[in-house]
Formats: sequence, C-alpha cells, structure tokens
Amino acid sequence: MDIQANLKEVIAELPTNVRLVAVSKFHPAEAIEAAYSAGQRIFGESKEQELSGKHEQLPKDIEWHFIGHLQTNKVKYIAPYIAMIHAADSYKLLVEINKQAAKHERTIPCLLEIHIAQEESKYGFTFDSCREMLRTGEWKNLNNICIAGVMGMATNTEDETEIANEFHSLKVFFDELKQKFFSDRPEFKEISMGMSHDYPIAVKEGSTMVRVGSKIFGDRNY
Ligand SMILES: *Cc1c(COP(=O)(O)O)cnc(C)c1O
Repeated sequence: MDIQANLKEVIAELPTNVRLVAVSKFHPAEAIEAAYSAGQRIFGESKEQELSGKHEQLPKDIEWHFIGHLQTNKVKYIAPYIAMIHAADSYKLLVEINKQAAKHERTIPCLLEIHIAQEESKYGFTFDSCREMLRTGEWKNLNNICIAGVMGMATNTEDETEIANEFHSLKVFFDELKQKFFSDRPEFKEISMGMSHDYPIAVKEGSTMVRVGSKIFGDRNY
C-alpha cells in the first residue's frame, strides 16, 4: 500500500474547494504518519477509544473529525479536542455536545446527519424530522456548538444514477435549510458526502468534504 501515492491521487482529482477527510479508522498510527508526512492534516475516525489513543500519540496539529455514530456517553472524551462531528443524528446528541463543549470553553462544529439512502438505518434525521427540529428554534440556544452543514451516505449500490440522485437530494436539502434557517449564518456551509467508491459522484453533486478511507489506506481488518 503506497499511502502517499494514493493520497496524492485522490487530492489531484478534488476541486480546490473540496476538503479531504482521510478516514484512518482501523489503521495504525504509522499509516496516519505516512499521510501526515505527505501534508494531510484532516483525519476521520469512528470509534472513541481508538481516536483518543491516536490523538494522544500523534502530532497535535492534526484536525480530528468524528465521522461515525457517536453515543452520548462518549462525547465527554472527545470534547476537549475534536475539530468536527459529522454525524449529529439527534437533538439529544447536539445538547450533550453543547454541554461538554461548554466545559472546555469550546465551540464544536457539528454536521446534521441526514438519512438519504434507500437502505434501512437507525441513524440520521429524515428530511422532515430535521426540519421539525430546526423549526422549534431551540438549537439557537446551544451556544457551544456551531451547526456547520449536513452529512449523508448514499446507498451501497453499483447504480450510479441512484447514488447521484441521493447526493443531489442532500444538496437540495442543504440549500433549503440554508435559506430557511441559516441565511444569516455563514458557518453553515458544509456538505459532507462521498466515500472511496462514490466520492467523484458526490463532488459533481456539490460535496464540500469527502470522507475517503480504503482508497488511501487500503482494506480495513475489523
Ligand atoms: C468508514 C467510513 C468512511 C470511509 O469509507 P471508505 O469506503 O473506506 O472510503 C466514510 N464515512 C463514514 C461515515 C465511514 O464510517
């Protein structure tokens, strides 16, 4: 696995306005160091313990993004340092992130995870539940989080039209939320979509952040 060559290949294909989250979950610190040496600074992880270990061990200018499902009882461990939480999937989780961020006098950028795939999933707001949550306006009192955009995952399928339609639906929804709830909030600007097998499609559909793992680091050993 030539991590640095893979990384360069991915970056070369990305428009300059699209940021790369290098998803390093299940890969050792040495793999992250290789990407770090090639200039990569944003890394994505999805398990709190694994992330906290890597955070302790690795350079402090790494921007750690939490990309997986986050249990409320784990928030306190990552609140001191996490740079972005991609999968805020309930109001309860936003409240907990806000509470823990306040303890550290931080403001943590969070993305609202939206369920856009055909597949069943326990996680993510539906379009309607997200609108409903924002309409109450209670989130405006959460001063230690910053709702910075949306995140979604397309169906795991070979059907590229289906994938494009799902990513398109997230872009349209982002535009709706921007206009209805965030027109005065320039920080609401991110659309996190696209993984190893579908990020070129996501970029065409308006992604601002892609989360790419196996294409850079190889297959994961679970
Ligand atoms: C693991 C993971 C990725 C990266 O997946 P690859 O297929 O390895 O690129 C992206 N997003 C989320 C939410 C993940 O859990």
